[in-house]
Amino acid sequence: MTIPFVDLKAQYHSIRDEIDSAIQEVIENTAFIKGHYVDKFEADYSSFMEGSEVVGCANGTDAIELALKALDIGPGMEVIVPANTWISTGEAVTTNGAQVVFVDSDPDYYTINPALIEEKITDRTKAIIPVHLYGQPAEMDTILAIAKKYNLFVIEDCAQAHGARYKGRLIGTLGDIATFSFFPGKNLGAYGDAGGVVTRNSTLAERIRMLANHGRLGKFDHALEGRNSRLDGIQAAILSAKLPHLPAWTTARQKNAALYCEYLKDGAAELPKNRPDSEHAYHLFVIRVGNREDLQEKLKEEGIASGIHYPIPLPLLKAYSRMGHIASDFPVCSSQMGEILSLPLYPELSETQIKRVCEIVNKYALKPRSGVQERVAV
Ligand SMILES: *Cc1c(COP(=O)(O)O)cnc(C)c1O
Repeated sequence: MTIPFVDLKAQYHSIRDEIDSAIQEVIENTAFIKGHYVDKFEADYSSFMEGSEVVGCANGTDAIELALKALDIGPGMEVIVPANTWISTGEAVTTNGAQVVFVDSDPDYYTINPALIEEKITDRTKAIIPVHLYGQPAEMDTILAIAKKYNLFVIEDCAQAHGARYKGRLIGTLGDIATFSFFPGKNLGAYGDAGGVVTRNSTLAERIRMLANHGRLGKFDHALEGRNSRLDGIQAAILSAKLPHLPAWTTARQKNAALYCEYLKDGAAELPKNRPDSEHAYHLFVIRVGNREDLQEKLKEEGIASGIHYPIPLPLLKAYSRMGHIASDFPVCSSQMGEILSLPLYPELSETQIKRVCEIVNKYALKPRSGVQERVAV
């Protein structure tokens, strides 16, 4: 039984007519850049985001870059970012000329550990970018309280968590600005690169809209220098066609995650924990084992794909060698990185497939060492 990591083709086949006619319509109307389909998706996603304003852009990395730029965060300033995330979160800070400051992970939830944020704050700190990693909301109450105390902006990186909820509140509505990626493999994915910036502040929304489109609102009316980071019409139409399915897809992801937990509960693998009172969007199902490489190889022999998110903490990547960090600067994240393994998880995954993955995991997995380490208080 071959089990891919994600199956975008299966999803396409389940909604092929809607997608094909959406694409056809954009071409018939030659609405490739800006125009009706982009406006429509922004309005559709705005409803999904409970009325926040939405500005489409080229990808989720640009979304973070535009958010920081709109807040005038640049040279001489610092931005707090989790050590465990995709590189975009750090990159966007650097491309704006500001300094990234990394914070270690929460040992249970993999998201930024808020107990370690305050010691990293200086008089140059301007913002915190919590990432709702793997689909799990970050500990927002504490983060928002710290931001308020030190007068910092909060930009939520929601690239992996469309529709997740923190204590009943929709993620992406909690901070000053939220950023989304619609990369094909994300929970809501286009058929190419796409992203969005979300905020309830209409002044900021207008500024982001200008920054993403050469600093203009009218055709030759450039009020400032921006850049070209537009969402294109075909991707917007595809996203509008897919959006109504997102709640059911999220439910299917949650159901599949629950099945994994059920079939793995007596095995050696450490299972992901759900933050209490929160709704995990399960972009990824991440377990921890003591023999990661070996288990990954065993799965591969059985035709089962798996992934690692992420193999190296961001501050230890060559890209950040200028900062001179060592693994012991981020003990939790560094010890977990060698043990985390993402199992296949997508809405179309069947119970039979999940059972098969669990059979192999239960047979070969060894207990993780990081599971017994001392807890860092939150
Ligand atoms: C995917 C992702 C991004 C960037 O999105 P792109 O659309 O690929 O540029 C940013 N942050 C996180 C946490 C992501 O997973």
